[in-house]
Amino acid sequence: ATEVRLASRPEGAPSADNFDIVDVEVPSPGPGRVLVRNTWLSVDPYMRGRMSTAKSYVAPFEVGAVMDGGAIGEVIESHADGVEVGDVLLHGLGWRTHAVLNPAHAVKLDPEAAPVQAHLSVLGMPGLTAYAGLFDVAGMREGDTVFVSGAAGAVGSLVGQLAKLRGAKRVIGSAGSAEKVRWLRDDLGFDAAFNYKDEPVRDQLREAAPDGVDVYFDNVGGEHLEAAIAALNLHGRIAVCGMISQYNATEPTPAPRNLAQIIAKRFTMRGFLVADHEHLRPAFLDEVAPLVRDGRLVYSETVVDGIRQAPQAFLDLLAGGNTGKMLVRL
Ligand code: NDP
Repeated sequence: ATEVRLASRPEGAPSADNFDIVDVEVPSPGPGRVLVRNTWLSVDPYMRGRMSTAKSYVAPFEVGAVMDGGAIGEVIESHADGVEVGDVLLHGLGWRTHAVLNPAHAVKLDPEAAPVQAHLSVLGMPGLTAYAGLFDVAGMREGDTVFVSGAAGAVGSLVGQLAKLRGAKRVIGSAGSAEKVRWLRDDLGFDAAFNYKDEPVRDQLREAAPDGVDVYFDNVGGEHLEAAIAALNLHGRIAVCGMISQYNATEPTPAPRNLAQIIAKRFTMRGFLVADHEHLRPAFLDEVAPLVRDGRLVYSETVVDGIRQAPQAFLDLLAGGNTGKMLVRL
């Protein structure tokens, strides 16, 4: 068996040196436990936060410990009632080839219903994040103009499409390459999209949203947030999902310089965590699973093979190497 451990805490952008890849004995499951061989691992932006000790909503990874995370594994040995060899489980012990689980902390998946790894993306945490943030937190309504940053990523690509499907008047996305911008416009049905690296976000957004923005779904923060505030209409709503442009910052970052507009525009800005929206999961699956099944919701995966590539997959994710969900296949 092989596992990836946190070797040291990054200062600024992480690098391969922050990880150790270690060969270990295959662990042995005790009574009530099962052994899984992992088949899919998720790498996610929030893991950058867990690599540091800065106060956050999840505890930091310990140096020397395995980097936990969302994963899917197939049961190869079971000492637990109701779990058979061959069952496929969604669980939280990623970044390792084998894991011993308490099945109470895992969810059994039906491999016939959807490709299992969809439970790490469109039907899983990123999907629920998009759904909860857009509809519950931002209260998106028919006729809204919606702007989403990080639009070609796991969450953002779903936000834009869900907004269109629920009757948004106009959906605008920003992303970091010409190819991603093309994908948003041609394959995902965004009305407009731009590469934030080409010109100032504020100028490109003004051009893409001549009548202003009603809902901004923020994955990025910084310059994007400031530009969205400038473009926001009266009573606009901002759902703050993430601020990835600041995750590697070594100094406190400036607030949006135009925040005072919150008064005249009477806009709302709400941060949220997907974990607080678990109650929406049934409604989310009822609405989204059929859209995925019949292809009305497009989702993409960027797949990297092999446990030894997991650190690089994570570093590439932070640098924009993914379109849709970044996954590691074992
Ligand atoms: P993505 O699939 O969107 O991957 C991250 C993307 O961020 C990269 O592909 C890259 O795309 C973009 N990016 C990286 N650096 C920058 C930068 N400096 N400026 C602009 N874009 C940048 O990840 P997820 O969909 O999993 O997550 C999206 C956001 O949602 C993250 O901020 C994450 O922390 C947050 N999140 C929050 C949750 C919550 O409960 N609040 C739950 C899940 C995610 P590009 O090529 O476009 O630069």
